[in-house]
Amino acid sequence: MRRRAIDTHIHLDGYDESRCESVLDGLREEGIDAVVAVSMGLESCGKTLSLARRYPDRVLPAFGFHPEQPIPPDGGAERLFRWLEEHRSEVKAIGEVGLPYFSRMEAAAAGRTFDIAPYVRLLERFVALAAQWNVPLALHAVHDDAPIVCDLLEKHGVTKAHFHWFKGDERTLSRMMDAGYYVSVTPECVYDAETQAVIRRYPLSLLLTETDGPWPFEGPFAGQETHPRMVHHVVECIARMKEVSVFEAQERLYANAKQLYGL
Ligand SMILES: [Zn+2]
Repeated sequence: MRRRAIDTHIHLDGYDESRCESVLDGLREEGIDAVVAVSMGLESCGKTLSLARRYPDRVLPAFGFHPEQPIPPDGGAERLFRWLEEHRSEVKAIGEVGLPYFSRMEAAAAGRTFDIAPYVRLLERFVALAAQWNVPLALHAVHDDAPIVCDLLEKHGVTKAHFHWFKGDERTLSRMMDAGYYVSVTPECVYDAETQAVIRRYPLSLLLTETDGPWPFEGPFAGQETHPRMVHHVVECIARMKEVSVFEAQERLYANAKQLYGL
């Protein structure tokens, strides 16, 4: 069986430059056909774009603003949207975008107030743009934030949505399932019960594989650098939990990624 898989969510600019090149150069030998490279903000968008130009056969670029950071200061968002317009033909997806669940939790734990409103406004602009350009959205939206994001997607008629590393309640999962949104699973599925519950609940036809690299994992991956090849473990885990062969899971997950991202 030829191994083939797609890492649908990775931060290539989170690796140092030479490491990033060696990962991309050796990708095919690892049975990884492509990666979806998400961006953190304007500077990161530039880096993602240059990698996508250099490796057009294996890097699909997504451009956006990661929500777990302070809102860009005056003019920052405008500069980013102008940049997106200027590079419109190369914008294959919008991401990573979403809402700052973890920053909000941290603020609450420290007794600080946290205003989510500017994040919702910024996200709505990205959602509207994705709808207008008909490109997929790579979303960071977990737990209580997911229903807010579902509302925005519905309001703008977005169908191509990908909730990366999703965690949330059954009700929201059903809502996402009915809308045909995709959910991606990280190597954490090997040791994390909450992720395993998502796999059990969500249909195989809407699941994707990802690493969120260079984010480090625990369990059997403790101390290892996160590499796109780790999605093969995700495929095996999903196969086991869905009670299908590894080949069937691999082919289905591969087709799902191609379908959503048009790879
Ligand atoms: Zn990410």
